[in-house]
Amino acid sequence: MSTNYSSSLKYGRDHIAFEVIYTKRKTMEIAVHPDAIVIVKAPTGTAVNKIAARLAKRARWIRKQLNYFQQFIPCTPPRQYAGGESHLYLGRQYRLKIRKAKKSDVKLKGAYFEISTPDHKSRETVKGLIDQWYKEHALRIFTQRLEICFEKAKGLKVPLPNIQLRKMSKRWGSCGTAGYILLNTELIKAPLYCIDYVIMHELCHLKDHTHSHKYYRLLAKFMPDWQRRKERLESAAV
Ligand SMILES: [Zn+2]
Repeated sequence: MSTNYSSSLKYGRDHIAFEVIYTKRKTMEIAVHPDAIVIVKAPTGTAVNKIAARLAKRARWIRKQLNYFQQFIPCTPPRQYAGGESHLYLGRQYRLKIRKAKKSDVKLKGAYFEISTPDHKSRETVKGLIDQWYKEHALRIFTQRLEICFEKAKGLKVPLPNIQLRKMSKRWGSCGTAGYILLNTELIKAPLYCIDYVIMHELCHLKDHTHSHKYYRLLAKFMPDWQRRKERLESAAV
């Protein structure tokens, strides 16, 4: 008897999660579904390494299919915080794995977001742990990116601002007059180069509060490809 299982495949710096379903069919079939789930149907008894080898051979194609579907996911549906659900971090999807443990812990492991908690059946607890994890990582990553962007935009001659985090539904960031920039915590789900775009946009606002031609000339000076980054951010399933 073979039992169905889920695992992941390493592809470059990426991990692709997949599910294996054993059936009575005679050949193996790999399908990428529009919700970005990879399903392998294999004849009952097919060895795990044989499945892995087939997946590795098709990895390029799978990645291409995933990219194709991901661009159509307009907006992530409300999260249920249940095992198997996918959550984003720095532009990559991670599948939620929830397990009962004595101590609470959140870890990224391969293609998975592993949540350990004594209260593993409570969605509230799981949500709380994930939100806290995102917040801590957002502050750390945004601070690092700000330093990098600030260095590139030295010509602005503005003092280094502080970062404040807030969960916002309609905007990625804004800048205050008192030398701080406000960033949406949700931005941590977007790729780094989109995060840099938002930071650079706000940094330039420290010099010019408008969205005039002059402002955009300034932005283009420090980030010539800002438009491409903006488009990517707006199409991201964050
Ligand atoms: Zn603006």
